[in-house]
Amino acid sequence: MTTTALTNIASLVTNDPSLGDGTPIGLIQNAAVVIDGDRIAWVGESSKAPATDNALDAGGRAAVPGFVDSHSHLVFAGDRTQEFNARMSGRAYSAGGIRTTVAATRAATDAELGANVARYLAEALRQGTTTQETKSGYGLTVHDEARALRIAREQTEETTYLGAHIVPPDPAYATDPAAYVALVTGEMLDACAPHARWIDVFCEQGAFDGDQARAILTAGRAKGLHPRVHANQLSYGPGVQLAVELDAASADHCTHLTDADVDALAHGGTVATLLPGAEFSTRAAWPDARRLLDAGAT
Ligand SMILES: [Zn+2]
Repeated sequence: MTTTALTNIASLVTNDPSLGDGTPIGLIQNAAVVIDGDRIAWVGESSKAPATDNALDAGGRAAVPGFVDSHSHLVFAGDRTQEFNARMSGRAYSAGGIRTTVAATRAATDAELGANVARYLAEALRQGTTTQETKSGYGLTVHDEARALRIAREQTEETTYLGAHIVPPDPAYATDPAAYVALVTGEMLDACAPHARWIDVFCEQGAFDGDQARAILTAGRAKGLHPRVHANQLSYGPGVQLAVELDAASADHCTHLTDADVDALAHGGTVATLLPGAEFSTRAAWPDARRLLDAGAT
């Protein structure tokens, strides 16, 4: 293997508290990193760096680990400019806006969707994101959900099945949402599971209630998918506590939390993922990170 040293790093964040200044981010000043093939082989002060085949001078810049984006919806077509403008002029956001994107996504070709995902991933990488999760959820048919995940999987391992984004606008489900839950936990799950690592549900008024969310996540888990939950974004609800109960990897949004919700997150293994970019574009209240940190949640 060829070894390369990245030298002359003014400040290096290692995320290893046993290194550097003893803080949780393990900060080392005047640092170097040695890379052996695709692995980091050594970090420390520049003056102590071992000999390497090649060297790159960081020019006194800071170096941080790549960012991990654990929540995105990149497989889609069309845009929601009209809705965004409406929100910015004061109209309230509801889960229904997803339907606009569903129509455009169903109409797009595989090549168009794949090119969109590639473009967004390249943009994320340029800004430092080296691990990117992304979800289905704008197909909402067996065919369109499976193809969204197949297309996403070609570009990232971290794919999430979100057939339970909303009950689709198709007339068949308008009066019978239970039939859609049966599809999501049955035929659609079977088609999507081979292309997904995670399963997610939008647990919210206007989307899926606690019982439906539980049925969907439990079915996914039985197929080897690990749960995550869109929880407590637009209103108080059962999402966060369900996520903790099912040992979900994350409860995402967490904008409206009771003390019991905060307590559950503090004592469970589920990560509270805040997504304030959503509140920025929906003009809703911000999630309270300090309240969660003070309670001991991660
Ligand atoms: Zn989301």
